[in-house]
Amino acid sequence: LQDNQQNSKRLQYHISSINQLTENHVQLWIEPIDKKLLYQAGQYLKIRYPNDEFFPFSMANAPTTDHRIELHIRSLANDANTLQFIENVKTTGQITITGPFGQSYFQKNNPLPIILLAAGTGFAPAKAIVEEIIRENAGRKVHLYWGVRELKDFYFASLPEIWKKDYRQFFYTAVISRPNIPSLSHVKTGQIIDLVTSDYLDLSGHQIFIFGPEQMVAMALKQFILHGLTRDQFRSDML
Ligand SMILES: Cc1cc2nc3c(=O)[nH]c(=O)nc-3n(C[C@H](O)[C@H](O)[C@H](O)COP(=O)(O)OP(=O)(O)OC[C@H]3O[C@@H](n4cnc5c(N)ncnc54)[C@H](O)[C@@H]3O)c2cc1C
Repeated sequence: LQDNQQNSKRLQYHISSINQLTENHVQLWIEPIDKKLLYQAGQYLKIRYPNDEFFPFSMANAPTTDHRIELHIRSLANDANTLQFIENVKTTGQITITGPFGQSYFQKNNPLPIILLAAGTGFAPAKAIVEEIIRENAGRKVHLYWGVRELKDFYFASLPEIWKKDYRQFFYTAVISRPNIPSLSHVKTGQIIDLVTSDYLDLSGHQIFIFGPEQMVAMALKQFILHGLTRDQFRSDML
């Protein structure tokens, strides 16, 4: 993961809202106090935690003229740093960020159909890209695969259904890797990489964005090249 943290300025943002989406997912909306972060859909920023370390988080909305930024934060009971960060913003109402970072952002001039793979909160940058495509309404095909462990981890389950209605070229596959329920018609089980290669035997002529852990990204690249994807159409900041 390459970035230029030394060169990027620290910016102060005000918290405009905090919403608990599920037991383990928090949505934050932040707005600039002074200087604004300019970014492209698919990029990420870094947040300063109370222990002074910076952690990466993707912008979850396409850039807007009011410069507000949406963030999706997974907070697990055993992740003391993140829990402390959330408690801290509730009392101070402010955060310090740096950015933008990342090269795997949406490019308007590429006409190829897009496949988005999002693992967990990888949904955040995928959402920003889908919003950008819908806003442009250029007829570009986009297929989102959102993979989570359990059903309750789909922290914005209704949003892809809305996108399907808003944009005829949007396709969606919801995937759970650890099913604890018999079967659901609208959710597949397994790994998102396998589902992509069984739906698209030939990946040539596609562009793929993948947002998830490094190991998954490395495995995806191997598989997708075997299915005809060209390396320059594989977009991830993890390799
Ligand atoms: C580029 C990048 C962006 C991240 N964005 C977020 C975010 O928006 N929300 C969040 O809660 N955590 C995000 N994380 C993970 C968060 O920063 C980690 O919790 C933290 O770095 C601890 O590291 P880890 O080894 O546990 O996480 P990792 O194993 O590196 O990743 C943990 C989880 O982070 C998520 N993730 C990975 N890449 C992305 C991505 N590009 N965008 C969104 N999620 C991603 C996936 O769900 C993954 O399962 C991001 C990580 C990276 C590298």
